[in-house]
Amino acid sequence: MIKSSLLLSACTLLLSCHYNDRDADLVVHNANIVSLDADNKVYEAMAIKDGRIIELGPEQQIRNRYNAKETFNAAGQWIYPGFIDGHCHFLGHGLNKQKVDLLGCTSADDLIARVSAFAKAHPEKEWIVGRGWDQNDWAVKEYPDNSQLNKLFPEQPVVLQRIDGHAALVNDAAIRKAGLDISKQIEGGQMLMRDGVFTGILLDNAAAVFQTIFDDAPEASKREALLDAQRDCFAAGLTGVHEAGLDTGTIALIEKMQAEGVLKMRINAMVADQKENLLHFAKRGVIKTDRLRVATVKVYGDGALGSRGALLLEPYSDDSMHYGLMLHDRAHFVEVAQWCLANNYQMATHCIGDSAVRFILDVYGELLGSTNDKRWRIEHAQVVDPADDALFSKFNILPSVQPTHATSDGPWAGDRLGPRRINNAYAYQRLLKLNGLLALGTDFPVEAIDPLATFYAALERTPKALPSTDAPNIYPICLNKPWAVWMHCAV
Ligand SMILES: [Zn+2]
Repeated sequence: MIKSSLLLSACTLLLSCHYNDRDADLVVHNANIVSLDADNKVYEAMAIKDGRIIELGPEQQIRNRYNAKETFNAAGQWIYPGFIDGHCHFLGHGLNKQKVDLLGCTSADDLIARVSAFAKAHPEKEWIVGRGWDQNDWAVKEYPDNSQLNKLFPEQPVVLQRIDGHAALVNDAAIRKAGLDISKQIEGGQMLMRDGVFTGILLDNAAAVFQTIFDDAPEASKREALLDAQRDCFAAGLTGVHEAGLDTGTIALIEKMQAEGVLKMRINAMVADQKENLLHFAKRGVIKTDRLRVATVKVYGDGALGSRGALLLEPYSDDSMHYGLMLHDRAHFVEVAQWCLANNYQMATHCIGDSAVRFILDVYGELLGSTNDKRWRIEHAQVVDPADDALFSKFNILPSVQPTHATSDGPWAGDRLGPRRINNAYAYQRLLKLNGLLALGTDFPVEAIDPLATFYAALERTPKALPSTDAPNIYPICLNKPWAVWMHCAV
């Protein structure tokens, strides 16, 4: 008996000593691999098979154990799990590549020059659509007006979205084409007038009138946009995104492209809050596949801080007549929340101002009633009055924040909020403690894609971006927990 068990042990020992007896597609070695496992260990090597990491370990162990089709010497560089952006506009980023690029515009004249150059280069475009201007970066920090656009483009519609998408500069031809009556109020929106004359600036719901034009992009341009966005995300190390609001048609296109195998990105597609979308998904229910999750409704609460659309408890410090605005009445938010409960969906609401946050927490609380595991979200949670902290914890509401907003808004956020209230803004440590979870994202294309810049901004509070284009040390790799990684990385 003793003899036979000794023999067995000897055999086991011999078997386990076999050299290179396991197959792998790829072995990566001589690396610093951040695992985010229970002990937060950093490993030297890993073996990958069928697109999955099958083992992490010391250099010699992995190299001796595996017979790999391909071996890659990482030369001591760092490797991270694939990052997940907790709030972004994946399709929007891709579509932006088909618009006039107004990012980094230095003045109203520069804006006009870029639009004119684009119009010359693309005579085929029926509409000229641009995005990315920010008057806060200009010497004259005032909204531009549309007088030049009307002169240069009397017949061709032009719509130029501000960087945050909450304001747009449009010409008269665009107003005519959209059939917009500027003498009529739009609920949750504004059309800015100067001396009784329309300036061409539309805010929030008034600017959103044009969104349908962008949403109605032909399938071919959406396909191109999704693939462009995927390429840029992979280059930055992102393997998953939470896309903050899509319509039914686009979600169907994503399913199709994922089935074709061309779209590999893991997408948590939030459903945009529109009647036809909710009707569709009430029938369809929740979608959960390896690469697609549809189980959240994205709702807009208020506007943005830069354009003074964020709803504050007290007036803007640099405009004492202005509180900002809510885009819908309470009944609407309650209706969506009821829909979410009935259909087992998450609700995620854009709230930037402290009043909007309080308003939505109150609606959530009324519907959720008590502790729960539904993970309803407040998107942005930029200005949060400490008096409302307890509601996040009580109803397990997750704040979803974008730390590069803190550094981009830094130069002017203090003007909008004043010296006391600014302490309640971008308060990530405070928000993290409420439930022990903080979703991090970028809101790209509002900010750059680079997830490392997000960590840097979260920890250092300076806009020093890490190099993103020449960052050879980022390898998008997939662990078996694609939805959790970004959140676990939050500190
Ligand atoms: Zn967003």
